Amino acid sequence: MSSENVTREESLDPEDWQLMRALGQRMVDDMLTYLQTVRDRHVWQPLPTEVKAYFNQPLPIESQGPEKTYQDFLEYVLPHPMGNIHPRFWGWVIGTGTPLGMLADMLAAGMNPNVGGADHVANYVESQVLDWCKEMLAYPTEASGLLVSGGSMANLVGLTVARNNKADFDLRQQGIYASPRRMTLYGSNETHSSVQKAVELLGLGSDSFRQIPVNKDFQIDLSELEIAIARDREAGCQPFCIVGNAGTVNTGAIDDLDTLASICCREKLWFHVDGAFGALANLSPELRPLVAGMEKADSLAFDLHKWMYIPYEVGCALVRQEEAHRKAFALTPDYLTHSDRGLAGGKIWFSDYGVQLSRGFRALKVWMSLKEHGVQKYGRLIQQNVDQANYLAKLVENSADLQLLAPVPLNIVCFRFTSDQLNDESLNELNKELLIQLHESGVAAPSYTLINGRYALRVAITNHRSRRQDFETLVGEVVRLGNKLLQ
Ligand SMILES: *Cc1c(COP(=O)(O)O)cnc(C)c1O
Repeated sequence: MSSENVTREESLDPEDWQLMRALGQRMVDDMLTYLQTVRDRHVWQPLPTEVKAYFNQPLPIESQGPEKTYQDFLEYVLPHPMGNIHPRFWGWVIGTGTPLGMLADMLAAGMNPNVGGADHVANYVESQVLDWCKEMLAYPTEASGLLVSGGSMANLVGLTVARNNKADFDLRQQGIYASPRRMTLYGSNETHSSVQKAVELLGLGSDSFRQIPVNKDFQIDLSELEIAIARDREAGCQPFCIVGNAGTVNTGAIDDLDTLASICCREKLWFHVDGAFGALANLSPELRPLVAGMEKADSLAFDLHKWMYIPYEVGCALVRQEEAHRKAFALTPDYLTHSDRGLAGGKIWFSDYGVQLSRGFRALKVWMSLKEHGVQKYGRLIQQNVDQANYLAKLVENSADLQLLAPVPLNIVCFRFTSDQLNDESLNELNKELLIQLHESGVAAPSYTLINGRYALRVAITNHRSRRQDFETLVGEVVRLGNKLLQ
């Protein structure tokens, strides 16, 4: 066959590598400038109608090339961020990211390994990161674990192992149908919704998650907990797990984890800790005592994209008994058999420990970030955020127009604008409108919650860019908007 008759073969690589190189360098430059100047911009602004409309375009059929594509990104995507990289973003519990974290994700995507298994370096990087995580949280070194998309997935992994391990039948084969008794688990009514979601996904039914009342510090009420367990046993249920909170999403409350661990030990229950952000308090010597007992958990879920400030997505699930962890997830069909040598060798197959088979190289940004800054610096930044929360609480307490609505044990401050002229219901309406106006002003972005029925402005500080002055700005703006709304 002559070469003219051969179909031209294609690839997705650039036709002109020199142009792609220049474009890539421009992107890196643009993004570093973007990060360096983030403080000069609004935290958030509503998306203009024409930008929203832009995202109704037909599927691209023909090539428009890389430069025009990047131009579209610059025009329609980059100027309209969520705002969480800004120094005055404190909504929900959302991390900030870092420049090297951004670059690390680029390197990871360039190598583009599948970290589900096989013998290649990414698995070793992830193992190293897991060992470092265990050390950071004083968790047993022989524990197993894996990096996941975030706290929700980490809770699902931990609770799956708990359920399968505590079922007295082969749950994987027979399913929850085979359970002679309702399997029940316990956590405070301040527990994050992802735990309920996991319980639902595991087929246990949300009714099986017994939500125990909290004390005035929003920690699980231990005597109510013990009563609930005893009542369930009497009724023929099978209590199997307690979920402890290391940092609740509403107020940052930390349950008495040591006592929860003893109750689990006595009652032969699985002890799962949701430490999404609060677990990292262990990095600060001053805060460490707050999370004592966390290291006794049978499984521990936490995030690296929140209080470790690493770019989305990355969370971590650790499980004390490696065998129990493996038993819950390992499934090895012929086409995934691990071999002794060659590319399919290697001891570490993370797909045996979680839901995903194909997995990205999210470990690299964690590995590089820990090397870049060292763990001590993270401890100082976490302490800095807690100090800032206390500073803000003091500013609130010192203002006649503001009211603190919950204790501040960690990095979350719940407060509201208040006035003698208004009842709770009107104050709820006023603060709701105030928060929207604050968001629209672009000055600061707290979120909201209800504390005992009161609408609260909620400031959760997992932000390494915030400065004390930013909290002064927030308080000034809340007081100004509140008084304007009063008129
Ligand atoms: C954020 C959060 C979660 C869920 O983690 P994701 O990373 O968002 O999936 C679970 N528990 C608590 C306490 C959280 O703050």
